Amino acid sequence: MIKNHPPTQFLADYSAGALSLAPAISVTTHLQFCDQCREAVSGLNALGGELLSDCEGIEISSSLLAETLDRLDAPMESAATSPSAQGDTTALIDSDLANELPDYLHKFVGRSTLNWRSLSSSVSVAPITVGESDYELALHRIEAGGKTPVHDHQGTEVTVVLKGTFSDEQGMYHEGDFLIREAGDVHQPIAAQNESCVCLSVLSAPIKLTGIKQVLNPFMRFNPS
Ligand SMILES: [Zn+2]
Repeated sequence: MIKNHPPTQFLADYSAGALSLAPAISVTTHLQFCDQCREAVSGLNALGGELLSDCEGIEISSSLLAETLDRLDAPMESAATSPSAQGDTTALIDSDLANELPDYLHKFVGRSTLNWRSLSSSVSVAPITVGESDYELALHRIEAGGKTPVHDHQGTEVTVVLKGTFSDEQGMYHEGDFLIREAGDVHQPIAAQNESCVCLSVLSAPIKLTGIKQVLNPFMRFNPS
């Protein structure tokens, strides 16, 4: 049972196409698990269509059509790198995860090997490159019973649980749960004892560790994706 959903404003921005790519991926991922939010987005999309159809028309220049067609005919400046154009969606190298991730995510992680890096005996991270400059998108895996270091945030962190369960000071989270931690929030995720936990995470700014100076910040080891 999913208890944690994106805020309504987040869904509205998603529906309006106003979210950056990495946060949009996090919402789409949640929607794979959540009928309730899928219905909400579908309602917002319908509302957006209604609002558009109610808009009054505006005068446009008579040359606009010709200019638009010229642009369509112009050569592309660079090869398309849109994730949806990347083709091969089946070659997820990390085979033990291939069957666990929502199909939707395969198109983003399927083209290359997931580069898992161990951050401690129980935590590893694999960045996902989607051409995003404002956010870091990654998978995090906490082994059964493992803890991440206590950390706080300089920016927003979105987490979607893909597999397993983890808990922190505020509760327990299951597959599909969508969490937002804001700047200043401090927490220490701990995986359930019986299985590892894999999450999709979106970070808007590096995280700083709290109190444990020896442990390197796991989330600062890679650049924005
Ligand atoms: Zn939901």
